[in-house]
Amino acid sequence: MDRTESMKPLKLLNYAQDRWYGAESALAPVESALTGETIAMTGSGGLDFKAMLDHARDVGGPALRRMTFHERAWMLKHLANAVMARKEELYELSYSTGATRTDGWIDIEGGAGTLFSFSSKGRRELPNGRVLIDGAMEPLSKGGSFVGQHVYTSLQGVAVHINAFNFPVWGMLEKLGPTLLAGVPAIVKPASATGYLAEAAFRIMIEADILPPGALQLVMGGVGDLLDHLTLQDVVSFTGSAQTAMKLQTHPVIARESVRFIAERDSLNASVLGPDAAPGTPEFDLFVKEVAREMTVKAGQKCTAIRRAMAPAEHIDAVQEALSARLARVRVGDPREEGVTMGALASRAQLASVREAVQKLVEGEARIVSGDPDSTPSGNGFFLRPILLRTDDPWGSPAVHDVEPFGPVSTIMPYRDLGDAVALANRGMGSLALSLFTNDAAVAEEFVLGAGAYHGRMLILDRTSAGESTGHGSPLPVLVHGGPGRAGGGEEMGGVRGVVHYMQRTALQGSPAALSAVIGQWLPGAAKPEGEVHPFRRRISELDIGYTLKTASRTVTLEDIEHFAAFTGDNFYAHMNEDAAKASPIFEGRVAHGYLILSFAAGLFVDPDPGPVLANTGLENLRFQTPLYPGDSMRVELTVKSKSVRDEERGEVRWAVYVYNQKDEVVATYDLLTMNTP
Ligand code: NDP
Repeated sequence: MDRTESMKPLKLLNYAQDRWYGAESALAPVESALTGETIAMTGSGGLDFKAMLDHARDVGGPALRRMTFHERAWMLKHLANAVMARKEELYELSYSTGATRTDGWIDIEGGAGTLFSFSSKGRRELPNGRVLIDGAMEPLSKGGSFVGQHVYTSLQGVAVHINAFNFPVWGMLEKLGPTLLAGVPAIVKPASATGYLAEAAFRIMIEADILPPGALQLVMGGVGDLLDHLTLQDVVSFTGSAQTAMKLQTHPVIARESVRFIAERDSLNASVLGPDAAPGTPEFDLFVKEVAREMTVKAGQKCTAIRRAMAPAEHIDAVQEALSARLARVRVGDPREEGVTMGALASRAQLASVREAVQKLVEGEARIVSGDPDSTPSGNGFFLRPILLRTDDPWGSPAVHDVEPFGPVSTIMPYRDLGDAVALANRGMGSLALSLFTNDAAVAEEFVLGAGAYHGRMLILDRTSAGESTGHGSPLPVLVHGGPGRAGGGEEMGGVRGVVHYMQRTALQGSPAALSAVIGQWLPGAAKPEGEVHPFRRRISELDIGYTLKTASRTVTLEDIEHFAAFTGDNFYAHMNEDAAKASPIFEGRVAHGYLILSFAAGLFVDPDPGPVLANTGLENLRFQTPLYPGDSMRVELTVKSKSVRDEERGEVRWAVYVYNQKDEVVATYDLLTMNTP
């Protein structure tokens, strides 16, 4: 059913303490972006915000923290599948926000895709435990009995997500992915203008019955006194205007309790045509296409959209001509109609705000070269044709760097040389995304060094990557999204980086044994118990962390080295030329190949028959520390470092391997990875 076409406006519901709740008073109307008619009533009056926070802390948090990272990651996958299974319901509602099918795809399937990505990262890069290890063990004493290890554990509070109107589904899910993976419950507050779409996606997740009680709650209106009850264990993640961000960030409780505050705010993102990208080059065409695309996708209501397009002074006319021609082909209207390429702005307020911003740009020395802010292309909806502005004096037009028209609007401007382009890009005072169109690596290097510190993400586009590029404006779950200064100073996503925003890093100090037990990973210096049974004969469930096999030793002869060289073709001087080896600053004579040592090591520790060890899947952190000379002997200690069950059939064991010579000096160390039966 198209919920937006029902006769009566839809009454949006809050979800508090695991129950749906409709506010009885102070409901606000929400208009369709396509018709201007009231399609929903929204409000949160009567909600007990303190009780919601308590419920999340007392019920949702403990339940999520009992789960391992992998269990939470599976939960994200199931949530994403639930959204995908009912995506058409969401697309139908999405039209009323002014979105085209493509815009809806970014929001809905992009949102689900973000959950899939976090699920996959969680299962591949996080342990099947509750503690996340950060970096290597730090030796803190000569004797090795006192060491340090950084770890992350889940915050014990609530994540309050205050979302923007432009991507109601993606905006909700990109914050929920890392939050739930970290084991933290969330209270979601969508923007009112498009909240009906966020509510529908939220409802799908609740109805799928995947989450533990208390894990998710929803506020469909003002947040009342919620912020007054925040504590040091809570996080506020906000996307929206600088004004609101500042208001929330300076809330006395947030300041007093050091509540973590992540902000994504407005951003005057730049796109730069490289000095080498003259008209006629593929990079010039790509630049024009991308600027036009960023102006029109989602009617330009994207935090990452290109607001300032910079080109070498000699090419600015050509850019204007090509861009205007492209924009003239854009068809604005009801996105359900065949051939429409750009929909409406999300709300009446947004349309007014964009017109006001354009007025400020015009007053601030920019001139409109394409489009008309007063045009009303289609009916009573909130439509606006794309508006291209130009300034020929970018340093004398501060408004183009300070005013963000959050709609289908961009300003082109010339730059003198690369240094000028870098300075103009940085004049935005911090942005989420910058793109540079160049086929010259030296230009790219100079730009990154000059502008990197001002921009959260930089896309360097050329003819090689264009075909597969995800474009200027697409934040990706595996890359960080956020930017310094004006962009809010926040950072989200970026794979596991986004998860740790909802965790506390603690520097643990103690004995290797004590820290090993806490982190579920063997650390050098901790006990290495041996047993009768070869570790390759044990399933993962029967392998204790630290369980060790100490092998017999074998001598490595010159004949072995020559045989290995002939067999593999590796005749490197250090193995085959005694005089050259002696003359080297490292060796006293010919030495065994590192790969020979690894092969002999396997020969010493492998138990050959089929069993729980299914395959060798890799080797990490390999270091050769002491040369092995002909006549030396070697032996191996193989220790279970960590283990992780992936599913009912498979899991991974990480083994710490130490190869010693006859003087008990370490010849080589590495982590061996095997795929095992659980
Ligand atoms: P707002 O800052 O007004 O709203 C953003 C979110 O904050 C909404 O959920 C809003 O709820 C909520 N909010 C507003 N006031 C409060 C408050 N006092 N306490 C708690 N929550 C509050 O931004 P808009 O959505 O109106 O967009 C305005 C501008 O923000 C855009 O023109 C653009 O410049 C920028 N923006 C930036 C984005 C980015 O990703 N960087 C994305 C979207 C917008 P409610 O809707 O119910 O008022």
